[in-house]
Amino acid sequence: MYSSGSRRKFFPSSQALTLALLVGLNIGSAFAQAPDSTVIRARAAAQRIGDGSSRSPTLEAMAQGQAPGRLFITCSDSRLIPSAITWTGVGELFVIRNAGNIVPPFDTRPEGVSATVEYAVAVLEVPTIVVCGHTFCGAMKGALEPDGLDAVPNVRNFLKFVEPARLAVERLHPNLDPDTRWVRLVEQNVRQQITNLKTHPWVAARLATGDLRVEGWVYDLEERQTRILPLQ
Ligand SMILES: [Zn+2]
Repeated sequence: MYSSGSRRKFFPSSQALTLALLVGLNIGSAFAQAPDSTVIRARAAAQRIGDGSSRSPTLEAMAQGQAPGRLFITCSDSRLIPSAITWTGVGELFVIRNAGNIVPPFDTRPEGVSATVEYAVAVLEVPTIVVCGHTFCGAMKGALEPDGLDAVPNVRNFLKFVEPARLAVERLHPNLDPDTRWVRLVEQNVRQQITNLKTHPWVAARLATGDLRVEGWVYDLEERQTRILPLQ
């Protein structure tokens, strides 16, 4: 991880395109009907950050630094491949992954997510942050059924950052069936982690000056499509 003296654009590799095809992205088709009216339908092009070019950066170019276009915060789930979801290649995404795509609120104690957010926003000056949750997220299932977490106390502790989202879903949608509640929590958790993200001073400062954009996405494992969440 190193900074760049000057912002330098790298091009996605053919590997990213291959990965996109392997996971069966529906690049050219219209998006399926979203399961909830709170989720807007989006054109596939909105998630195609990269251009699918086969050109790869040279070793010399990579040695000169990095200038990723996005900080991409997503779940550690093995079914998610950020470069394939976004059609990006080497040098285009700066990635944070953990169980539940969680961003703890700002705290001065040493903590990996906060440090990495700070580096991306203050040093690399990424223009966009994406928080991307996904359907069938085991972390969200754990937040809904915490009695099953006795053997994994660190997971249980980490999922306390999901609790405001869980409470919001219970308050907004008190009578949902379990599967729908799970989906609503995935969505609400993305919004909650964006709220937490905004407590970080560098994020707040760059949002205030209008040169940082924050987006919330949900990747649908069944549909193999990404939905952009309305954040207001
Ligand atoms: Zn997950």
